Amino acid sequence: MSQTTTLSLGEIIDALMGDDDAGLYAAACEARYDVFGDFVHLRGIVEFSSHCVRHCKYCGLRAPNAQQQRYRMTPEEILDAVRLAPELGLGTIVLQSGDDRAFAPSAIEKLLVEIKSLPTPWGEPLAVTLSLGERSEEELRRYKECGADRYLLKLESCDAALHDKARPGESFAARLACLETLRKLGYEVGSGVIVGIPGQSMERLAKDLLFLAELDLHMLSAGPFVPHPETPWADAPWGDLDVALRATALMRLLEPRTNIPATSALDSVVPPEISGKRLGLDVGANVLMPSLTPGTVRNSYSIYPGKNRRHADAISAVEDTIAVIRRAGMEPAQGQGASPKMERKE
Ligand code: SAH
Repeated sequence: MSQTTTLSLGEIIDALMGDDDAGLYAAACEARYDVFGDFVHLRGIVEFSSHCVRHCKYCGLRAPNAQQQRYRMTPEEILDAVRLAPELGLGTIVLQSGDDRAFAPSAIEKLLVEIKSLPTPWGEPLAVTLSLGERSEEELRRYKECGADRYLLKLESCDAALHDKARPGESFAARLACLETLRKLGYEVGSGVIVGIPGQSMERLAKDLLFLAELDLHMLSAGPFVPHPETPWADAPWGDLDVALRATALMRLLEPRTNIPATSALDSVVPPEISGKRLGLDVGANVLMPSLTPGTVRNSYSIYPGKNRRHADAISAVEDTIAVIRRAGMEPAQGQGASPKMERKE
C-alpha cells in the first residue's frame, strides 16, 4: 500500500520549479498505480446555472459581469442531462453552478432524490457530487439527507489575505469552516487551488499544497489560472502549465489515496492538438470530468475562456475522454469510485 510521502517545503519548492520533472512524474504515477491500478474514474459534470451572486475576481460568472450569458436549466433539463451518465457508463454526477440563490434548495433536494433513484446497469445508484459554493449547514445537511455523497469547494488560495483579495466580500475563514462542516456531515470533501492566481508566489503555492495535504481530504485539484477578459484580472498572466502539472503530481505524492482530477482548465491552456486531460493522467491524476452540459448552453458556462469549447455536446465529450484514457494505456473504472479513504472507514 502506498505511503504518504513526507516532503519538506524546500523540496516542494524545488519540485515546483522543475528540478526533476521526470523523477517527479514517475513517482506520482507509481503512487497512483499502487492505489488505483490502471483505472480512471469518470465524473459527468452538469453545469446547470451560470447565475452567481459573488464577485470573485478570477471568474467570468461573477455577478458584475454584464457580458456573461446567464442561463438556468430546469430540473427536467438537468435530469435529462444526468440520465446520460448511466447510459455512457459514468458512475458519478457532479452538479455545479455559480452561487445561484434563485435555484431553490427544495428543487435541489427533489433533484437529488430523483437522481439517486435512477437505475444504472451496474446496480448501485449514481454517486452525486455537489459544487454550489458556500451554503449554510442546514442546507448542506438537507442535501446530504437527500442523497448527496460528495462536495467540491476549492479554497482557491490557502493564503487568507490572497483568498480574501480574490473573493471580495468573502472570507477564507468562512470557506475553510464550510469544508469542516461538510466533513462533519459525512460528505466526501474536495478542495484545491488555482495555480498562478494573481499574487501567488512559488513558496506560497508550496505552502498551499502542504496545507491541503494536512486537511486530509478525499479529493484535491490544482488547475492553472486562465484570465477571463470580462474580469478585473483580464490582463494578469496565465497560470503556468508546467507548474500546474507539477502541483498535481505533488498532490499525488503527498496524498496518494485521494481522488485527483486532470482539471478542465488544463485543456484551456494548451493548443487544441494537445490533450490537457492526457497531460494530467501522465502526472498522476486518476479522475476525468467530461461535461454533460447540453450543447445549447455549454459554451455559456464561461468561468474561464475556452471552458467546454472542445466538444459540441456531452456524448462527444465522454467518447473523447474515454479515448484519452485508453491512449494513456489506462481503463475507465466502473461504479461510483469513492475515495479509498472512505472505504477504509467502513
Ligand atoms: N460557485 C462554485 C463553483 C465555482 S466554478 C464555487 O465557488 O465553489 C469551479 C472552479 O472553477 C472554481 O472553484 C475555480 O477554482 C475554477 N475557476 C474559476 N475561474 C477560473 C479561472 N479564471 N481560471 C482557472 N480556474 C478558475
